[in-house]
Amino acid sequence: MTRPMVAEISATALRHNVAVVRQRAPHARIMAAVKANAYGHDVTLCAPVLAEAGVDAFAVASLEEAETLHALRLERPICILGGPFAAEEVRNAAARDYLLVIHEQRQLRWLETHAADVALRLFVKVDTGMHRLGFAPDRLSAVFAALRHYPRWRVLGLMSHLARSDTPDDLFNRQQADVFAEAMACFDGSTAGQHSLANSGGVLALPFTHHRWVRPGLMLYGLSPFAGRSGSEIGLQPVLSWRSAVVATRNLTPGDWLGYGATWQSPAHCRVGVVAAGYGDGYPRHLGMGAPITVAGQAARILGRVSMDMLSVDLTEVQAEIDAPVVLMGAGGAAVEVLAARLGTIPYELSCRIQARVPRRLVP
Ligand SMILES: *Cc1c(COP(=O)(O)O)cnc(C)c1O
Repeated sequence: MTRPMVAEISATALRHNVAVVRQRAPHARIMAAVKANAYGHDVTLCAPVLAEAGVDAFAVASLEEAETLHALRLERPICILGGPFAAEEVRNAAARDYLLVIHEQRQLRWLETHAADVALRLFVKVDTGMHRLGFAPDRLSAVFAALRHYPRWRVLGLMSHLARSDTPDDLFNRQQADVFAEAMACFDGSTAGQHSLANSGGVLALPFTHHRWVRPGLMLYGLSPFAGRSGSEIGLQPVLSWRSAVVATRNLTPGDWLGYGATWQSPAHCRVGVVAAGYGDGYPRHLGMGAPITVAGQAARILGRVSMDMLSVDLTEVQAEIDAPVVLMGAGGAAVEVLAARLGTIPYELSCRIQARVPRRLVP
């Protein structure tokens, strides 16, 4: 691969961010959320580093993601956050000893039909107010009564998810935690007491949500869940440094048009660099005109429209020749959080967008 593009993944930053989780939630075990290919960072690169750094388990979104992780032989429990998704999955998941999160009546029926005599480890998801997944608290008695018929099934604990942990001062967090605490009080004896509520926002700002397992995702990658504050500002280190290079330069004279749609007209003599990166790599086309980008260590701006494989930058005030290194986002360049805010989205989405054709490389 000689196209000058790489997403560097920093092992040092990953280890640092795990240490921050430990420090913030010293009494909890860490279930690292590595779904969606480790939020676009490449699970096969990140998970071994996370395991070595001491995370206690992994969380994924599907049986397929669990299988990818299992193939790495990291010897940590793997939890399928929303699974099983179909009756056929139950036996495969049980054979691998994946931890399953049961949130719906029909999943119970699948377990009863396909795994009545099989050892299983489960979390029972309770809806504490987000109203996405989970049993309503008043349904839990019936659920636990059903589970009790199967001595080979072990309920590790209750699980729930915070809807507003990105705004930690919000009273809604307290309300969810209170509903969770009430459910814990009722059903602690029917479980192994391994309850889990906190995601990154909870780990960082809501100690009363920590319980036995915390489930950080975003913060492991050095990204901040809080609007207006980047990961670096809250003591995290960005894991991603998405890089490319200038592959052509040209001089424009006043009145020259640039790029698709000829949306930008040069007002003066200016110098333009063409960077090998585009929306086909996952660099959002809507970032476009004016977005910050770093060229040869200097702050620059995008000019005109982002194409599929290329974008243009203003080099008029930047000392950079052909082959100059470019940081599209992350360490050494514009923070993912800043670009996400500019785009009207969240850092989660931006890092997940980086396409498979972008080679990821682990750096020390
Ligand atoms: C993705 C996810 C997490 C991790 O959330 P972050 O905000 O990335 O820390 C935790 N729990 C569940 C159920 C999730 O789906």
